Amino acid sequence: MNGSGTRTVTGRRLAALVRERCADPGLARDVEVVSQVLPFKVSGHVIDHLVDWKSAPDDPLYRLLFPHRDMIDPAHFRAVERALGDPVALRGAVAAVRDALNPHPGEQLTRNIPRHDDGDQVEGVQHKYAQTALVFPRHGQTCHAYCSYCFRWAQFVGDPGLRIADDGPRRVTDYLRRHPEVSDVLFTGGDPLVMRTELLQPYVEALLRPGLEHITTVRIGTKALSFHPARLVTDPDAGPLLRLLERLARAGRHVAVMVHVSHPRELEPDLTRLAVSALRSTGAELRSQAPVVRHVNDDPAVWADSWRAQIALGIHPYYLFMERDTGARRYFGLPIQRAYEIHRSATTRLSGLGRTARGPVMSTTEGKVTVDGPTRLPGGEWAFALRFLQARDADLVGRPFHARWDPQAQWWSELAPFADHDRPFLAGAAPGVPVRQGGPR
Ligand SMILES: *Cc1c(COP(=O)(O)O)cnc(C)c1O
Ligand code: SF4
Repeated sequence: MNGSGTRTVTGRRLAALVRERCADPGLARDVEVVSQVLPFKVSGHVIDHLVDWKSAPDDPLYRLLFPHRDMIDPAHFRAVERALGDPVALRGAVAAVRDALNPHPGEQLTRNIPRHDDGDQVEGVQHKYAQTALVFPRHGQTCHAYCSYCFRWAQFVGDPGLRIADDGPRRVTDYLRRHPEVSDVLFTGGDPLVMRTELLQPYVEALLRPGLEHITTVRIGTKALSFHPARLVTDPDAGPLLRLLERLARAGRHVAVMVHVSHPRELEPDLTRLAVSALRSTGAELRSQAPVVRHVNDDPAVWADSWRAQIALGIHPYYLFMERDTGARRYFGLPIQRAYEIHRSATTRLSGLGRTARGPVMSTTEGKVTVDGPTRLPGGEWAFALRFLQARDADLVGRPFHARWDPQAQWWSELAPFADHDRPFLAGAAPGVPVRQGGPR
């Protein structure tokens, strides 16, 4: 059900697909139960070209895309399983489980939403860091397939109160015209490339109008290369999209396609390679980002392979994220220490061109924090050295600070300031978390 006519499988048909393709019948049951709670959707490309069915459920692409019983608490799993077949009980059980999964990390719905001069909120725009405004076009709030770790899962499960969507291109450009500090507009979602080109075009072309010369960079966040590469090659709508990007580049704007690559196998299909060339031929630059998550890519060799393949294709590694504190985090989450080791070990295997992904990065309410690593401070105690790459309070950016070293901590909220002078940096994190002694080795 999207503009570019992808064959997709969701809901009940997902369990049927797994029953048909996988030897273990228990997997289809898991799918049936867990997909009541979290949103799942797979595309034809994913089914035919990415998932290695023989290795399910341990195949990393299966883990990326399909429900697994360990994604929710065992008691929650049983509660939902018991309620199957009783719509009223099921609705209650599902709502309770979703609530327990922190559906809105970083207070996305209530903060960073800018206002027009008339005081109305600019719907579908997030403007948190001075230079970059995020735009969520109304018809781009879904994806060709869903990553099971997605931190935006709550907006895909169909509760309209949870959606972020915009007022249309006019209101967005009115806002941008009054904000000369914005140099970058990032179209995001969901995935803006689920939109038909004719719907996306007005947003993009509006940026070329007089009064918006300060918008020098247009970024588009997408996972279409991995989930539906035909969008950029063989779909009827591919040509118009590529010509749109080309017009933008010819007009002197930097076009940055921010691709999401979780695993190097996503880059192997011929159609994906053709899609990369097609994008590059428009004059666009490709940059990549993804979270490091357990069961999918928690291995430095996987990241080194991925970044190596990206460099060969002309994609610049940009960010390696920590998984946010939401959704199936019990399943995907990794300690900060482990994510740091994976990033470090992967980058040391590559030349400088492959070392450009900053990370691991936590995107928190206060800002984007990167983990420079564990370090031993005078006095012999271990700490994490941290740095804001972006911050709500711009004065905090780029200044090293320290949190108490904790080998189990998985998120910002579990970190405690190392010393008093670190407090302003960790004001948004949890005070008084227990201190663990010892060091990383
Ligand atoms: C990550 C992010 C950006 C972009 O940051 P860059 O460092 O420019 O890539 C912009 N706005 C928000 C809210 C973000 O989370
Ligand atoms: S492509 Fe991005 S927005 Fe879409 S499901 Fe994956 S992580 Fe979420």
